[in-house]
Amino acid sequence: QADLALYAAKDAGRNRLAVYSHPLGEAAEHRLQLEHELRRALDLREFTLHYQAQVDDQGRPQVMEALLRWHSPTRGLVLPGEFIPVLEESGMIIEATRWVFREACRQARRWAGQGHALRIAVNLSPLDFRQADLAGSLLAILEEERPPTGSLELEITETALLDAGDDVQQTLARLKAAGMPLLLDDFGTGHASLAYLQQFPFDGIKIDRQFVAGLPESEHSVALVRGILTMARHLGLHVVAEGVSNERQAAFLRLNGCPSLQGYHYCRPQPAEDLERIWIRESSSSLQPWGH
Ligand code: C2E
Ligand code: MG
Ligand code: MG
Ligand code: MG
Repeated sequence: QADLALYAAKDAGRNRLAVYSHPLGEAAEHRLQLEHELRRALDLREFTLHYQAQVDDQGRPQVMEALLRWHSPTRGLVLPGEFIPVLEESGMIIEATRWVFREACRQARRWAGQGHALRIAVNLSPLDFRQADLAGSLLAILEEERPPTGSLELEITETALLDAGDDVQQTLARLKAAGMPLLLDDFGTGHASLAYLQQFPFDGIKIDRQFVAGLPESEHSVALVRGILTMARHLGLHVVAEGVSNERQAAFLRLNGCPSLQGYHYCRPQPAEDLERIWIRESSSSLQPWGH
């Protein structure tokens, strides 16, 4: 009863801290406060998307990854590392994912309207797979927003698949059948990367940036990245290298046949309008190599 009253007070937006008889630890209070602000942020639409290009071996953008940003009135620009875990633990991630997906659909339509043939990659959280009908909810949004066919893809981290049952298989199959390629994100950092490739219908992998970081000096990184590229080629999988941050890494990856590169070296995550300004400045409907 007392707990319910506390939560009611919280929902009413009163000063919770005053009604706790046992003060929470500082960390827990910080957490609750953040959760409360995030709830407001979802309602007040304080979230935006930034986009980061994945470029081909000529530096031409092919895919834009949508990355969530929170513009907090008090905290300023907040990055996902700080708030995604809170969205996940509170269950708000499901609503956030739907918002991201809808916004990505709209952006795909806008860019197609401007003559840019780009796909948008949306990140899914492991927690998204806990809801009853993830595929149904995304397909409903697709139906409403009607982005151009083939203009979306999905990035899924290995942790999403940890306790995967038949329902995850089915969810992935439905999403893929709806025309969205599936990429295994942060490849190589999970517990069973290779098993997942065997088990699930992935179209590509994103080599985690920890492997790219050591290129080309570290013999270990070189061997691992070459191995991954060879394996992917044999399996017919697309490969994106994450976190490419200098030309030497890029050169190594191109030389070893990595079809797609992403990282600060090519493009920082930024708002759609800033990307459009670059395209307009470079006056093209066909896309030009990325400036540094
Ligand atoms: P991710 O999907 O692996 O995204 C790549 C992260 O690496 C992004 O961080 C990006 O800004 C950063 N990055 C890109 N290039 C470089 C580079 O050259 N060097 C370095 N050091 N970093 C680089 P960001 O935007 O902070 O996102 C972090 C993570 O948060 C993402 O990792 C993803 O797991 C999650 N995330 C972001 N947006 C969403 C979203 O809309 N939904 C969900 N579920 N997760 C999201
Ligand atoms: Mg990603
Ligand atoms: Mg990643
Ligand atoms: Mg990552």
